[in-house]
Amino acid sequence: MSTDLTRAHAVALDAADPLGALVDEFDIAPGTIYLAGNSLGPLPRAAATAVADAVREQWGRGLVTSWNKAGWFDLPYRMGDAIAALVGADAGEVVMTDSTGINLFKMVAAATALNPDRRVIVMEGSNFPTNNYVVQGLTRWLGQGHEIRFAESHELIDAIGDDVAVVALTHTHYKSAHILDMAALTARAHAVGALTVWDLCHSAGAMPVALNACDADFAIGCTYKYLNGGPGSPGFAFAAARHHAALDQPLTGWWSHRAPFAFDRDFAPTEGIGRLLTGTQPILSMVAAQAGLELATRAGSDAARAKSMALGALFVDLMAARLPDAGFRLASPRDIAARGGHVAYDHADGYPLMKALISRGVIGDFRAPSTLRFGLSPLYLRYADIWDAVDRLADVVESGLWRAPEFQTAEKVT
Ligand SMILES: *Cc1c(COP(=O)(O)O)cnc(C)c1O
Repeated sequence: MSTDLTRAHAVALDAADPLGALVDEFDIAPGTIYLAGNSLGPLPRAAATAVADAVREQWGRGLVTSWNKAGWFDLPYRMGDAIAALVGADAGEVVMTDSTGINLFKMVAAATALNPDRRVIVMEGSNFPTNNYVVQGLTRWLGQGHEIRFAESHELIDAIGDDVAVVALTHTHYKSAHILDMAALTARAHAVGALTVWDLCHSAGAMPVALNACDADFAIGCTYKYLNGGPGSPGFAFAAARHHAALDQPLTGWWSHRAPFAFDRDFAPTEGIGRLLTGTQPILSMVAAQAGLELATRAGSDAARAKSMALGALFVDLMAARLPDAGFRLASPRDIAARGGHVAYDHADGYPLMKALISRGVIGDFRAPSTLRFGLSPLYLRYADIWDAVDRLADVVESGLWRAPEFQTAEKVT
């Protein structure tokens, strides 16, 4: 519990914040308080210049020579190494490529192939549903009788029995921000002979992740959330080095071929993490993502997590102090250590409340049926922003602004 909830104290915390200088590296409109960075991170200033240069010089002037001269061909590996350092992996164990969903397909397929005598895949039913859809699609296509065993966080350990081939879990829950115990669940999986695929979408960039220290087998994640890579920036995939030699994923293509420019008729896998690639990557999106990755690297995961926890504690304390009886119910763990980079509240009028709050310049998001999410990214938010955000929310509630007709209708993307 923060003892001092005044705005002056928040301003004092900003003055002493070791990450405070990073705020100026982001291009956020004056007056906007951006609390949706857990959905789409804001624009790093350096990304705008890097993309402009890549378009005009590398593409416009360099043309096809830029695959070599501008290092385009190696970009998935270079970006992968930078991501590896943030998620507790070694260089050569991560590539940046494709989307999270596609990488999940490849990794769960590869993991099931490494455990051919078993048919059960354990997943968390309340996870971001695309993960379920992807694995449901995969098992349909495998046609070998694989089944998904859904369990919720408190049931997972028991669900991981000796019939399980693969445990495919998301480290930080997209709605509640609850963090699963990667070390314990991975140990449990290995004890019964199962392999793990960890989804780091809501963890990478928000907190230190210890893939190798936890002995994780495979992982995937996205870069447009806490890594601020830009809309639709490619995801990443991790495979522990011990699995590389036997790694076989279904979307093999020329970029995972041993000699892509030999144009051989038949596939032969390259060594190492390149096996997870398929084909030509969205280079402009990768260039855009480089700036955000550099900022996350400069901040460091430990410092990012420390500030993220402090922002979260301040937010929860201010909500309790300013809006104690307004119908908000904390939908995230109260224990800061078990909570990721955002804080979620349930409220019966969550949708119009969030829409009205956005009209006041505080951008969070809403997840049906009743959850308001407040992303508290440590890279570009000040403590004073947290204070102002809760202040504006209190005003939206107390003035009744949220009851206005324009806030009642749902848009396509919430
Ligand atoms: C953000 C997120 C995704 C996004 O997947 P895309 O393939 O990029 O659309 C998937 N899973 C989880 C858990 C996420 O948080």
